[in-house]
Amino acid sequence: MQEQNKTMDEIIAFSKQKGFVFQSSEIYGGLAGAYDFGPLGVELLNNIKSFWWKKNVDQKLNYFGLDSAMFKDPRVWDASGHTSGFSDPMAECKTCNTRIRVDKELEKLGVQADEKMSEEEINKLFDENKDKIKCHKCGGSDFTKAKAFNLLVKSNLGDFTSKGENPVYLPGEACQGIYLNFKNTVDSMHPKIPFGIAQIGKAFRNEISPRNFLFRTREFEQADTQFFVRPNENKEAYERIKKERWQWYLDLGLSEKSLQWEQHENLVFYASDAWDIKYNFPTYGFDEIEGIHNRTDYDLTQHTKFSGVDLSYNDNGEKFIPWILETSMGLGRVFLAVLSEAFTKEELEDGTERVVLKLKPFLAPVKIAILPLVKKDGIREEAFKIFENLSQKYVCNFADTATIGKRYRKQDEIGTPFCITYDYDSKEDGAVTIRERDSMKQERIKIKDLEKYFIDKF
Ligand code: ATP
Repeated sequence: MQEQNKTMDEIIAFSKQKGFVFQSSEIYGGLAGAYDFGPLGVELLNNIKSFWWKKNVDQKLNYFGLDSAMFKDPRVWDASGHTSGFSDPMAECKTCNTRIRVDKELEKLGVQADEKMSEEEINKLFDENKDKIKCHKCGGSDFTKAKAFNLLVKSNLGDFTSKGENPVYLPGEACQGIYLNFKNTVDSMHPKIPFGIAQIGKAFRNEISPRNFLFRTREFEQADTQFFVRPNENKEAYERIKKERWQWYLDLGLSEKSLQWEQHENLVFYASDAWDIKYNFPTYGFDEIEGIHNRTDYDLTQHTKFSGVDLSYNDNGEKFIPWILETSMGLGRVFLAVLSEAFTKEELEDGTERVVLKLKPFLAPVKIAILPLVKKDGIREEAFKIFENLSQKYVCNFADTATIGKRYRKQDEIGTPFCITYDYDSKEDGAVTIRERDSMKQERIKIKDLEKYFIDKF
């Protein structure tokens, strides 16, 4: 078997064709920066989420789960700094009005730039490199000056006068709900510091140029943990968290050579350290999938100031504002990394090509496919009994059309780790053939032993 190169275009086409990801509102021409997860995509996404939850909440003694409302008091975003400072530098093409994100264009040229720079700093770099930056639409190089563009998405919740005053924003990041529930969690669960709070939540950003499929969207999901520690007692915990997050990606099935650490050179003013985990996407190259940040006491101090409620932690009479170590993972980006890693084109020994999604079995959208060899002679009915039984425990497919070879290939494409074939002999020997996806090896297993067999496999 010979593995062949893959491109992101192939993965995008595959995602749509096989029911993993669709563009939002496609029948209306598609809405930029938003995607829908299809029948197989939602299974894969849920499997990634539940693996994250298991490792970050269920299997941890001192981490607590949360699911906070998306709508929050607008002052939350003043306290967090989002209404004033959550912006990207944007410029407009003077010929066709297309907008570009200047820091990202500079980065592409190898220039050290980021969204945290002042307008003056970024415009200086922009001027020096203007001739090398081309408009995505018309190819021109005549741009306006870069201006900070706020990324928060406003809603009209409760605004019955339509004046747009005090808008309620959609969340720009999922973690704010955790800070708002810090006191509730302490008062209800009485955790001993250090402890963590974890949540999966949606985030919305008015990205100037959404692009690269699921990589940069305007609506996405984040899986965040915030670990609360004593001030300055953070180095050891930070290292532990970094190690655990790296290992999580390996356990998810991403290969070590496709992952990379990068430390932030230009920290936001309140942070004391920040690292990104990057994945090497086909076509796009290495880019961020998760940020691990030491946010100091900034968040709880700000919310104490703006809400007037004291968010310090009381440890036997000793009061202090905890520091926060954050992990923030983008689920869309990790979904795309998992799909990219698993998508495999193989040339088989007989010269034919097969596409196989080499997902770890726990991630596969369908775990077992039950395939009756033929529909007649009671074979279909007997096979269906196996489906009814196993589907109590596992997501199963039942497929009875096309040749057995074609049905195997279809299951390979969607990553089903095991196919069961019920044939004429099954009636006699009470056994079925199980074919494994990656090796394509087949073995004969008694029907009465199937449950045990799969407990061992999953
Ligand atoms: P970038 O520099 O790529 O814009 P960021 O540093 O602003 O990302 P964070 O605010 O740290 O990202 O968000 C944490 C995670 O959320 C990121 O690591 C990424 O996986 C995800 N994320 C951020 N913005 C987007 C987006 N527009 N689309 C999809 N995922 C995103």
